[in-house]
Amino acid sequence: MRVRAFLWTLAIAGATFAAIALTSLSWVPVVGAAIAAAVVSVNKVAARIDRPVCWHCGHDISRTHAGAYGKICPECGSLNQHKPPQGTA
Ligand SMILES: [Zn+2]
Repeated sequence: MRVRAFLWTLAIAGATFAAIALTSLSWVPVVGAAIAAAVVSVNKVAARIDRPVCWHCGHDISRTHAGAYGKICPECGSLNQHKPPQGTA
């Protein structure tokens, strides 16, 4: 998921550089549009992470009790950090 978001950001950055080089537009609005596109792309990927499922196997862990460091998947034992620990600072 994170790799995909990173690749999207790279692709957008490359397209931005090409647009600046090929059209010699003023770079400010182009970079602004690229940043907006990057934010939208990352948000789309991040929206899937918000679902309470195991990141490793996809098992539903919405009813799993969260420990100090996240939720332990009962299916595969992976640690999932859907919410940062609160009140432990
Ligand atoms: Zn799992």
